[in-house]
This record gives sequence, structure tokens and C-alpha cells, in this order.
Amino acid sequence: MNTPNPVISLQENASSFFEKVYSKNIDQMQCKQGCSKCCQTDISIFEVEAQRVRDWFNSLDSEKRNSLRQTWQIEGDKKNCVFLVNDSCTIYEARPLICRTQGLPLYLSSENSLDYCRLNFEKGDPDKSDWLNLERMNTLLSIAAKSIKKDERVRLVKLKKELQAL
Ligand code: SF4
Repeated sequence: MNTPNPVISLQENASSFFEKVYSKNIDQMQCKQGCSKCCQTDISIFEVEAQRVRDWFNSLDSEKRNSLRQTWQIEGDKKNCVFLVNDSCTIYEARPLICRTQGLPLYLSSENSLDYCRLNFEKGDPDKSDWLNLERMNTLLSIAAKSIKKDERVRLVKLKKELQAL
């Protein structure tokens, strides 16, 4: 039996946590398709997460891969993530862990501070049970990536160029 990839498990857990918090706070969270305020960034991710994006891309049929390559040629705002096109994430199914946490209340234990999108929770901080401990998550991600020796960093801009050349 295959051992589950611990990083993919973390990604799935983050998505499940988001869904739980979102359904509980649906009137307080503005996250929806078309809102891309969290994607104005050029990030780097662990190789293990980049590999998930490559595997997902390679699992698509050639028509879909070609269509994505064409989509990625559309010049977007330089401040935005290279995978953001027309306010949609073009690698949504395989997006990295950090992207799955956007919109959640993120707790930084080292600073004892809570941060979240200014469009969300306008009535005030949500319940503590809805906070995601960001540093703990990043530590778990780092340990998991190291455990399978895929912890080098890959910038999304480089990953996109690689996928375009495949
Ligand atoms: S990978 Fe997708 S969700 Fe993550 S920042 Fe880029 S466009 Fe946004």
C-alpha cells in the first residue's frame, strides 16, 4: 500500500479546515471565485508542492494542457501571481498549501497576533476555534517536505515556465 504523501495530506487538511470555517462564517467571509486579492504575489513553494502541480498538469489531456499554455501567455499584472488569469487560479486543483489558507484568520503565535483579509470578519474577530496557526502549519509543512527530501524551494514564476516548456 502506498504511504500517503504528508504534504498532500496537509494541503487537503487545510482545504477541509477552510471549508469548515467558511460554512460556519458564510455571512462574514467574502471569499468567492473572482476575488483574487490574495494572489497579488510571487511566491516560492517546496519542491514537493511543485511536483503536485506538475503531476496534475501532466494528468490533463493534451487539449487542456495546450489551452492552459495559451492562457498563461496572457499578460497579467506584474504584481500578481503568474498562475492568476482573469482573476482565477489556473492551477486551482493543485494549488499550494499557503493558497488554501487565504481568507482564513491566521494566527501568528510568535507575535500573538491575528491577521485576516480586510474584506472578512468586519464584525470583529471570529471564534478562536476558527483561527489557523500559521507558524505551526509552516513548521509541519517544512518537516513533511524534509521527510521526503523535497524541501528545496521553487518559485511559481519558474514553475510556470517549466510547465509551458513541457
Ligand atoms: S497559485 Fe493560484 S491561488 Fe495561489 S497565489 Fe497563484 S493564482 Fe492565487
